[in-house]
Amino acid sequence: PADSEDADTLVMSADLALYAAKSAGKNRVGKYSPALRARARERASALQELGLAIESRQFELYYQPQVRADTGRVEGFEALLRWNHPVRGVLAPRIFIDVAEETGLIVPLGLQVLHMACAEAMTWPDDTYVTVNVSPVQLMSSGFGSAVNDALEASGLSSKRLQLEITETGAVEELAVAELDRLRATGIAIALDDFGTGYSSFESLKKLPLDILKIDRSFITELSEGDSAVVTSVVEVAKALGMQSLAEGVETADQLRLLLTAGCELVQGYYVSRPMPATEVAEYLSATAQSSGGYFHSF
Ligand code: C2E
Ligand code: CA
Ligand code: CA
Repeated sequence: PADSEDADTLVMSADLALYAAKSAGKNRVGKYSPALRARARERASALQELGLAIESRQFELYYQPQVRADTGRVEGFEALLRWNHPVRGVLAPRIFIDVAEETGLIVPLGLQVLHMACAEAMTWPDDTYVTVNVSPVQLMSSGFGSAVNDALEASGLSSKRLQLEITETGAVEELAVAELDRLRATGIAIALDDFGTGYSSFESLKKLPLDILKIDRSFITELSEGDSAVVTSVVEVAKALGMQSLAEGVETADQLRLLLTAGCELVQGYYVSRPMPATEVAEYLSATAQSSGGYFHSF
C-alpha cells in the first residue's frame, strides 16, 4: 500500500522491481522503491531527447591531435563527440554515452559519427588519419562492417586514413574479432583504447588484430622519475607484438620526456593540444607545420 494507491500502479511498480531484479543478474528478489520509478522516467525522457537530437543533428565532433613523441609531427586526430544541447549547452560524452549505449541509440549515433569524421578528414592533408571511438554495443551490432564501408564510400576517404578505437570489453567476443579482422584487411587501423583499466590482459593483446595500443591516462598521471617500469614494459610488449604505443592524457613536459625514454612512439593530451572544433584543424595544422614541432624542443 505504501507504493501505490490503485491496482494498476501497484502492478507497474512490481514490474519495475522485476526489471531491476532481472538486470541485476536474474535469480533474485527485487523490491520496488520510488528511486526506480524516477530512474525509469529519466531513461524514458533521455531516450526521447537523444533520439530527437540524433534526428536534428545536434552532435558535433571535436578533434584532438595525436603526434609523434620524438618530432611532434601530427599523425592524426581523434574524433571526440560533443552534444550541442539547445538548453544545456555543449555536453561531454560522459553525460550521454551510457544512456545511448543502454538504449541502443549508440548505433545510429555512432553511424553519424563515422560519416562526420570521414567527411571532415577528407579536408585534411592526405597523410593525416582520423580515429573514431567505437562502443562495444556498436561493434556487436549487425551490419557494423558495412556501415563503416558506407561511411568511407560516401566521403571518398581512403580506408588507410581511418582508424577505429575499440575497448577490450567490446572485443572479447569471437564475432567482434572476426569483424575487426575483416575491416583491418581493407586497410583500416585498429587501436585498443584505455589499455590498463579494468579487465586487461596480454591474452587479448595477442588475440586481437591491433595496430596501436593506447596506454590509459591513469598510467601517464602516475608516471614519475624512477617509476616508469610499468609504462616501459607495456611499450616493450606492444613492440614485440608489432604495435605502436600511444600515451593518452599527456599534460606535462616531464611526462613527455619519460615517455620518450620508455620508447613510446605517439602521444596525445593537453600538453600537445586540447580537442578543437573541426573548423580549427586547418589552422592548427599550418601553425604546427611552420613551427616544425618547436613545441617539443622546449622541454
Ligand atoms: P577516451 O576515448 O579515452 O578519450 C579521451 C578523453 O580524455 C577525452 O574526453 C579527451 O578530451 C580527454 N583528454 C585528452 N587529453 C587529456 C589530458 O591531457 N588530460 C585530461 N585530463 N583529459 C584529456 P571526452 O572528449 O570527454 O571523451 C570521453 C570519452 O567519451 C572518451 O574517452 C570515449 O570513451 C567516449 N567518446 C567520445 N567520443 C565518442 C564517440 O564518438 N563514440 C563513442 N562510442 N564514445 C565516445
Ligand atoms: Ca578513445
Ligand atoms: Ca582512452
